[in-house]
Amino acid sequence: MCSCLLRSALMGHDGFFDVEEEFLFDEQLLTTLKQRLDDNNLFIRPLKSGDYDRGFIKLLNELTQVGDVSKQQFQERFNQMKAAKNYYVLVIEDRITERVIGAATLLVELKFIHSCALKGYLEDVVVAQSYRGKQLEMSGYQDYIVQNEEKDGIRFSWNVWPSSRLEATRLVVPVGALYTPLKDRPDLPPLQYDPVLCTRAACRAILNPFCQVDYRAKLWVCNFCFQRNNFPPQYAAISEVHQPAELIPQFSTIEYTITRAGCLPPIFLLLVDTCLDEDELNALKESLQMSLSLLPPNALIGLITFGKMVQVHELGCEGLSKSYVFRGTKDLSAKQIQDMLGIGRVAQQMQPQQRPGQPPQQQQQPPQTPVNRFLQPVHKCDMNLTDLIGELQRDPWPVPQGKRPLRSTGTALSIAIGLLECTYPNTGARIMLFVGGACSQGPGMVVNDDLKQPIRSHHDIEKDDCKYMKKAAKHYEGLAQRSANNGHLIDIYSCALDQTGLHEMKYCTNLTGGHMVMGDTFNSSLFKQTFQRVFAKDSKDEFKMAFNGILEVKTSREVKLSGAIGPCVSMNVKGSSVSDTEMGIGGTCQWKLCAINPNTTIAFFLEVVNQHSAPIPQGRRGCVQFITQYQHSSGQKRVRVTTVARSWADAASSIHQISASFDQEAAAVLMARIACYRAENDDGPDVLRSLDRMLIRLCQKFGEYNKDDGNSFRFPENFTLYPQFMFHLRRSQFLQVFNNSPDETSFYRHMLLREDLTQSLIMIQPILYSYSFHGPPEPVLLDTSSIQSDRILLMDTFFQILIFDGETIAQWKSQNYQELPEYENFKQLLQAPIDDAQEILQSRFPMPRYVVTQQGGSQARFLLSKVNPSQTHNNMYAWGQDSGAPVLTDDVSLQVFMDHLKKLAVSSSS
Ligand SMILES: [Zn+2]
Repeated sequence: MCSCLLRSALMGHDGFFDVEEEFLFDEQLLTTLKQRLDDNNLFIRPLKSGDYDRGFIKLLNELTQVGDVSKQQFQERFNQMKAAKNYYVLVIEDRITERVIGAATLLVELKFIHSCALKGYLEDVVVAQSYRGKQLEMSGYQDYIVQNEEKDGIRFSWNVWPSSRLEATRLVVPVGALYTPLKDRPDLPPLQYDPVLCTRAACRAILNPFCQVDYRAKLWVCNFCFQRNNFPPQYAAISEVHQPAELIPQFSTIEYTITRAGCLPPIFLLLVDTCLDEDELNALKESLQMSLSLLPPNALIGLITFGKMVQVHELGCEGLSKSYVFRGTKDLSAKQIQDMLGIGRVAQQMQPQQRPGQPPQQQQQPPQTPVNRFLQPVHKCDMNLTDLIGELQRDPWPVPQGKRPLRSTGTALSIAIGLLECTYPNTGARIMLFVGGACSQGPGMVVNDDLKQPIRSHHDIEKDDCKYMKKAAKHYEGLAQRSANNGHLIDIYSCALDQTGLHEMKYCTNLTGGHMVMGDTFNSSLFKQTFQRVFAKDSKDEFKMAFNGILEVKTSREVKLSGAIGPCVSMNVKGSSVSDTEMGIGGTCQWKLCAINPNTTIAFFLEVVNQHSAPIPQGRRGCVQFITQYQHSSGQKRVRVTTVARSWADAASSIHQISASFDQEAAAVLMARIACYRAENDDGPDVLRSLDRMLIRLCQKFGEYNKDDGNSFRFPENFTLYPQFMFHLRRSQFLQVFNNSPDETSFYRHMLLREDLTQSLIMIQPILYSYSFHGPPEPVLLDTSSIQSDRILLMDTFFQILIFDGETIAQWKSQNYQELPEYENFKQLLQAPIDDAQEILQSRFPMPRYVVTQQGGSQARFLLSKVNPSQTHNNMYAWGQDSGAPVLTDDVSLQVFMDHLKKLAVSSSS
């Protein structure tokens, strides 16, 4: 939709858009009618030239056969009607969905008879089907939700907000949003100027389409603090029909390029484990050499290798490789690392005048500062570095029988972070750590070098029987926080058959937004392809990676921020919009995002401020503005601004409006984030209990039922999938950990806490497709009943892509029917899921595991574990001894789960 509107709004030389949209007739004629008809969400107005994009023709199609009307045809007819001056087409627009939902045409006929009277005919009266009668509020939300996700990268759990704090808590699912700050938007106009800020010092919100504008006085009213602001001089040409892009409703998300800030090259620091087998090391070396050709020539690159010792390699000297060697057991402070590398002095000199985001070279340093020995532009050192990587040897220290190699991952990371901290603070940089085993000495060790001692399991953690875990976790958390404060992100590429300590190291990726990739070997396509995709480019041939972001959230005064859950850290910026109640990472209105990809999604939670006795008047709208400053991969400084508004409703009188605005998919993902965050930070069983209690309460609040009659329970249509999502979430690998290693759990949660809504839903409730001779491929229930002998199933769990042949299919395949010409259709049937699987494998990050199996095959357990809950426990619901509240306890089928949920919801005693 946005690209169509962009075409009708042309940007002039001054960066302003000529807004072509016009009314069919004077809006003033409707004043009396408006007073009578306008309500909270619906309003009446003349037809506008842009109504083609608001569903006007689709609406007329409900009245009669309209046929295919192109946008151009619509525009021509609009112009003819306007010129004729006797057509008055009125429309009703839904303020929330921005769709035309009703229309009527008043045709005025000029007559000679009756003393030249005017005669009016009312024609073509239509109201969208979904708005007729009872369903008035239900209408259009699906469209509305999809459009807002496309336009603003945002999904709210509730799209109409309750007008008091008490009513908000009664909704059970919190008011929250999933926001994707750098959602791919190739259609955005390139604005090469700074945003216009509200002049009130405590506000500083950015001019946006929800601001009221007085075009004559050249004033705008801030929609957050109601300050009246003058437009800056360069906006002198502004008028109703000549507007800057940031005021056009279709650009409620817009991006500014700050041209006066200098361009910064991205920095890549490779951190390579050399305690690997010959094969592993060779495979990794190949991938690293390949990656050099993918980097922009001006990028800076550095290399640190580690085993028993840590080596920082100088890249400046042609033909002779020199490196600084550190002991792997000693925890060095940043200052010590700087001194030992001979860069401490330089860093100290730079500190006082150093400005954020400015690399030291720009400050009259001699062109060859000592630091440049370790971080060189790719175009200057790629030959040298290719050779250096090629010559890397396995760690030379002998490993006795029954021992693990001594691996100093914790020290190596500390040195890498110290190096960047003193050379490029507050500048986009990427530390890429490649590990093939667990850290076994020095700070950050997660296991000792005795092979008889296995690395900790979930059972050890539960029994509090892990000697190294807490200390190691603390080491990595401290490093991650330091790194995040400087805008440097850390990727971990872990390839090993055993655990490598991702559980302890997870802070590095989770706080800085770096990638966590988990594979068995560096020689797998899973690693190789995933690593290549880190350097993937978008349609504009630019890297899909952004650096050193700061995301600030502003809210109108009726709401406050409880917190954020996602790959970010708090910047501890308090303000009037920060709530005292924390959900996730709270106590701030700014968060640091060292890495942002097009999919990176943060969950935000809002708190309604107004007390029950003083609710917000209906008709007003609550506003939230997201301001993301970041370093684009081209080196430019950019600011992406998204401003959204949602209506308030009084829950006592208009609960149906709020209920109709529920987005069950967004709600499920937000609840999954909360559950996952709590499972990471608190203890596990409580998380399941609270999920259950909330689900029961949600059923009680929004279901329709007769007391104590489970069969009478009905959920509104837009709630029906939600219990299913919760069913799958509570038995998912995110919350049930004992079938996985702590490293695997950390990896799964790492992905759920950052991906966008679509990917997160696949993780929560895997998708199952069926292929058979009975028809085209179709999605089927994630249930044992879907496993049939004459079907092929394709399951996508996000982490795995699995193809499963039913028994008959497997038999035919083993008899090679597909080779025979008369069974061409069988060959095609076999090929179809493979092609579909390839499509997913080609596009997803990280690349999923690919499993092909059949009925009775050893790998079929992957499918069975998802569709077939264990039947060993059957005490489905128990009156919990600890809490006294009913909770759903054991793992049962969806049917049983739903039956018991309904019973609990309608029970008069709960
Ligand atoms: Zn303001």
